[in-house]
Amino acid sequence: QVDRYLYHLRLSDDALLDVMARFQAEMVKGLGRDTNPTATVKMLPSFVRSLPDGSEKGDFLAVDLGGSQLRAHQVKVCDDGKQSNQLESKFYPTPKEVTQGNGTELFDYVVDCLLDFMETKNLKHKKLPLGFTFSFPCKQTKLEEGVLLAWTKHFKVRGVQDTDVVTALRKALQKHKASFDIDVDVLALVNDTVGTMMTCGYDDQRCEVGLIIGTGTNACYMEEMRHIDLVEGDEGRMCINTEWGAFGDDGALDDLRTEFDRELDLGSLNPGKQLFEKMISSLYLGELVRLILLKMTKEGLLFNGKVSTALLTKGKIEMKHVCAMEKYKEGLSNTKEILTELSLFPSEEDCVAVQHVCTIVSFRSANLCAAALAAILTRLRDNKKLLRMRTTVGIDGGLYKTHPQYAKRLHKVVRRLVPTCDVRFLLSVSGSGKGAAMVTAVARRLAAQRRHIDATLTPFVLSLGTLREVRNKMRTELEYGLKRETQANATVKMLPTYVCGMPDGTEKGKFLALDLGGTNFRVLLVKIKSGRRRSVQMYNKIFAIPLEIMQGTGEELFDHIVQCIADFLEYMGIKGARLPLGFTFSFPCRQASIDKGTLVGWTKGFKATDCEGEDVVDMLREAIRRRNEFDLDIVAVVNDTVGTMMTCGYEDPNCEIGLIAGTGSNVCYMEDMKNIELVEGNEGKMCINTEWGAFGDNGCIDNIRTKYDKEVDEGSLNPGKQRYEKMTSGMYLGEIVRQILIDLTKQGLLFRGHISESLRRRGIFETKFLSQIESDRLALLQVRRILQQLGLDSTCEDSIIVKEVCGAVSKRAAQLCGAGLAAIVEKKRENRGVEHLQITVGVDGTLYKLHPHFSRVLRETVKELAPQCDVTFMLSEDGSGKGAALITAVAKRLHNVGQK
Ligand code: ADP
Ligand code: MG
Repeated sequence: QVDRYLYHLRLSDDALLDVMARFQAEMVKGLGRDTNPTATVKMLPSFVRSLPDGSEKGDFLAVDLGGSQLRAHQVKVCDDGKQSNQLESKFYPTPKEVTQGNGTELFDYVVDCLLDFMETKNLKHKKLPLGFTFSFPCKQTKLEEGVLLAWTKHFKVRGVQDTDVVTALRKALQKHKASFDIDVDVLALVNDTVGTMMTCGYDDQRCEVGLIIGTGTNACYMEEMRHIDLVEGDEGRMCINTEWGAFGDDGALDDLRTEFDRELDLGSLNPGKQLFEKMISSLYLGELVRLILLKMTKEGLLFNGKVSTALLTKGKIEMKHVCAMEKYKEGLSNTKEILTELSLFPSEEDCVAVQHVCTIVSFRSANLCAAALAAILTRLRDNKKLLRMRTTVGIDGGLYKTHPQYAKRLHKVVRRLVPTCDVRFLLSVSGSGKGAAMVTAVARRLAAQRRHIDATLTPFVLSLGTLREVRNKMRTELEYGLKRETQANATVKMLPTYVCGMPDGTEKGKFLALDLGGTNFRVLLVKIKSGRRRSVQMYNKIFAIPLEIMQGTGEELFDHIVQCIADFLEYMGIKGARLPLGFTFSFPCRQASIDKGTLVGWTKGFKATDCEGEDVVDMLREAIRRRNEFDLDIVAVVNDTVGTMMTCGYEDPNCEIGLIAGTGSNVCYMEDMKNIELVEGNEGKMCINTEWGAFGDNGCIDNIRTKYDKEVDEGSLNPGKQRYEKMTSGMYLGEIVRQILIDLTKQGLLFRGHISESLRRRGIFETKFLSQIESDRLALLQVRRILQQLGLDSTCEDSIIVKEVCGAVSKRAAQLCGAGLAAIVEKKRENRGVEHLQITVGVDGTLYKLHPHFSRVLRETVKELAPQCDVTFMLSEDGSGKGAALITAVAKRLHNVGQK
């Protein structure tokens, strides 16, 4: 009879799987921006993004409001490797005047209890951070702020709903500050579920779910940020407080709710609310049993149909009674005793029936809880794209802990519902209190970490004012380089190139070109056609220059170059032809004519001896002569910037600037002859190779150089030289990043403080990795994989930091480059004497071409710093090859004109 009566309270596995699916759908609804307002399960972001990592330490206070009692705790967290933490607590009652009075009284009471605790523990004169466990649904916008959405459980305090409870607590603390000597700083507002997860997470790093089955019931878990619409940002995870107690408030569980559930709800403080919680938590379990017994008695099924006053009284049966009655091992004695106390005079049969009722009610509670938990676990597993997952659930709450069978039942059902999860259930020891301290400790660690990272990266953030200053200094240095009196000591050399004319489309013929000074050494054959069939055809071959030759003697270097030319001529079958040759030599050269260039100094990775101060064309001619195999007509020595400008100029006559952002950084532009004091003549224009990479070598931008820039400089082949280039070009950006990463690791902020062998290796962090890591399309997991390939074992949090570091370094590079370019275009505008300048810049270089943000930031900076110039950027297709041929062709044409 009893069984038939309680049929509706029994739930089959199919029914539970159905509940699980409904809860899964509810979670999705709660997470979505548009669906959240109508969702019953609110899925509240907790702003807890990290679990403890064991390096937390310090003394913390915690108050815990929302359970059966108010608790104050002192927690000592030690980072001694043993991961121990100590807890001392004191409990205070929460009388009805407090739980159903007004807000001011409530928070005054909380502070009174806290003061009493601090007095007992002698803590009054210390400055202590406090974590506030407040186990009601709160809408948080940060860790230390939360607006109460609604009271639940046995609380109903006036004037608190829709206000920030942290502010209220702080206000109450402030009132007492004058009369008592206390200094307490509320750092975190924590839900008890989150506290439980954090406490267990301290002992078991795998813990990512927190579950409470006590006075109330609720769960939290770590959700992917990209699924949380209500919080900005896509990276990493955040703990979501599901507030699953409200599941079913929209009627979703009505088919499962019985007449007893409805009756219980109507008699509660919050009718229609927290319907799931009312089927599960300990606050309602006894009451549910009472309502069932009452009805059964009234229908004559129990106690001879005699209803006692006690049985009619709300709250007379509590969870502790249910637990006691379900202690089967003790037979029926407990049940008999309890029922007798309720003046019910039970028979043996009555006792058996009542025990059965208790079991079915608590079994249903465990079943429902398991179904919802199974939904969370499935979601976690799907988020991780795993077929099988191992995880840990931290649990707290009186029902789970004290009920004789509850835990075992729950575990069993969960494992049956999600066989693909290996779940460890970890009991939290006073999780809500200790957990608040853990959240506070983690928050403090993260805040400190944030401060250190910000402090490290702040020097890379350049204000508009600073960028303007850089632009102005660059302008000054450009002038120094052009003026006769100052140019000898100028850092920006402003080298005349003797390239005076732009291609006009009449160029034609076959040319050889060499490209030395970039990543690759190449020999090219370029065929230029003019007129209607105007076109450029190129054939090229890349040759390696071994390090020992790059850094050997000059003779060896040039012999190697000629060897490569010989191979190429052979390969192309043109050994006999004495072709005109343009030599792209991308190092600073002082030229006296277009085919004479004295190397001022090596830059980038080159360092061959006996070359500086020598004419590179002579060296090449001599090497050809030494080989005595073929002859070439070396017409022009060309800087790659000039080649780039020429290539683009061939398409767009408005192109009068060439920019390289590749291995190195450099610019050339067409300057009025009258401004070039070093070269005779005042008519027309000549291209100036600025060699701006050396900007700052006199210390003029040392104010913005960081210690990392200095480290990179000191570890380079040319210390003290090319300071601007070392902040802006592909050869160095990765190295700057590596220096920062080392420093952050040393500070214990990255890679768990462990500097791996690979991180120590110079050059390991290539600039192409910046491009990959900074790509917007890349998920964090992929960043991690890149770092792993580099031998850097990173966590998710590490990956976020590394990405931030890369971003800071590349952004500064682009901005500095933009500031320099702004100086150039402004100068050109003034030269022309126009209000508004339209100009095209030819650009080459892999950093510009492949980095996801460099070119955009560069363009934006130029626009900002040179608002009167309308700058078009034109990508150059192989400037150093085609450009060299074009310059050679132009030079030949002009030469011929001169001869005629
Ligand atoms: P160069 O300037 O040597 O003639 P490039 O223009 O190809 O040749 O530039 C090479 C430089 O570009 C190298 O220093 C390298 O660090 C950098 N680099 C290579 N790949 C990338 C990438 N994907 N993103 C940014 N920089 C890159
Ligand atoms: Mg190049």
